[in-house]
Amino acid sequence: MRPDTPAEHIAEAERLIRTATRYPEDQEPLLLQAAAHLELADERERASTLYDQLLSSDPADPHLVKALQAANLWEYGHEAEARTLISGIRAAAPTDPAPWEVIAEALEAHDELADSEECFTEAATLLVKESDPLTPATTALLTGRHRVRRLLALPHDEWDMVADTRHTGPVPLDELHDPKRIWALGSNDPAELRAEIARLRAELGDRRAALSRPFPVALLHWPVEELTELLTAYPTLATEYPSHAAHLTAVETSLRSLAASGTHNLGIVTGSVPSYEAFAASEKTSPASPSLLAEYATTLAARGKATPWPPSPTSPCWCTSTKPYAQCHGAP
Ligand SMILES: [Zn+2]
Ligand SMILES: [Zn+2]
Repeated sequence: MRPDTPAEHIAEAERLIRTATRYPEDQEPLLLQAAAHLELADERERASTLYDQLLSSDPADPHLVKALQAANLWEYGHEAEARTLISGIRAAAPTDPAPWEVIAEALEAHDELADSEECFTEAATLLVKESDPLTPATTALLTGRHRVRRLLALPHDEWDMVADTRHTGPVPLDELHDPKRIWALGSNDPAELRAEIARLRAELGDRRAALSRPFPVALLHWPVEELTELLTAYPTLATEYPSHAAHLTAVETSLRSLAASGTHNLGIVTGSVPSYEAFAASEKTSPASPSLLAEYATTLAARGKATPWPPSPTSPCWCTSTKPYAQCHGAP
C-alpha cells in the first residue's frame, strides 16, 4: 500500500503533483509530500525544484520549506547553499519546532555535532517554556538534543533529564543514545553490532520520516448520514462498513494499534459522498470499489484535511457525539 521502491515513490510524487494542480489551494501540503517522496527515491534535484516552487508561492510555513530544502541540498553536495539557508533560519528564530529539528538533524547528519547541539539548544531556549506543557514537537527537540549531547559526551542538564523522563520507548534513552552503542565498532559480535545499528536507525528513521512528511497517516471517518447515503448508492461498500457504530469503533481501534506500533502523526479525515464521487471520477474508477477508500483518505490527508488524533481527553470526541473524548471513543 505505502510506496516502497524508488519507482513507486516517483509515481506517488507525480500523483500528488497532479492532485496539486486540481486543488491549488492545498498545494503546500501536497507538494511538500511529493518532495518527500522524491527525496526517498533519491531524486533530489526534482525535490529541490518543488521546494523552490513552494518558496516562490508564499507558503504558510516558509521556514519549514527552507529547512527541508537545506537538508535536501546538503544531501546532494550543495553544502554552501544549505549552510546559507540554515543560518537564515537560525537568525529568523521561527516559533515552529519542526524547522529547527530539521536543520539541527541536517547538521548532525553531516557530523557538525557542536553546531547541531547549539542549534537544538537555541530552539529549546526559544520554545521550551516552564509555563507551557511540552508537545510532541518540543519533546522531539529535547530528545534530539539529548542524542547529540550524548555523542559529544556532555553531562546531563535539566533538559536532558526531561528528555529521559518523557521518553516512552522500550529502551531507555540513555541506553539508546549511548555513544558506546552508537559507535560500538569495537564489538566483536557483528550480529550484535548490526542489531544496535538497526535499532538506532529505526529511532532516527522514524523521526525523520515523520518530519519529512508532516502529514498524518489518516483514517477515514463517515458521519452517519453520509455513510447511509454512501451505502445506499454503493451497496458493495457494506463489506467495509457493517454498521455506523462498528465503523466508528474500527476507526478508533485501528488508530490505537497504529499508535501502539510507533506510528506518529495520526489523524482522521471526514468523508462526504460528493467529494468521494469527485475523487473517484478524477481517478477514473468506480466509487463502488472498496480499494478506493484508502486512496481517498490518503489524498484528503495530503491536502491537509486531517484532524490530529487523539483529541485531548476533555475535548469533544472526533466522532461528533459532543461527548468528551475520554467518555466516548477514548474510553479505555
Ligand atoms: Zn539521559
Ligand atoms: Zn466518540
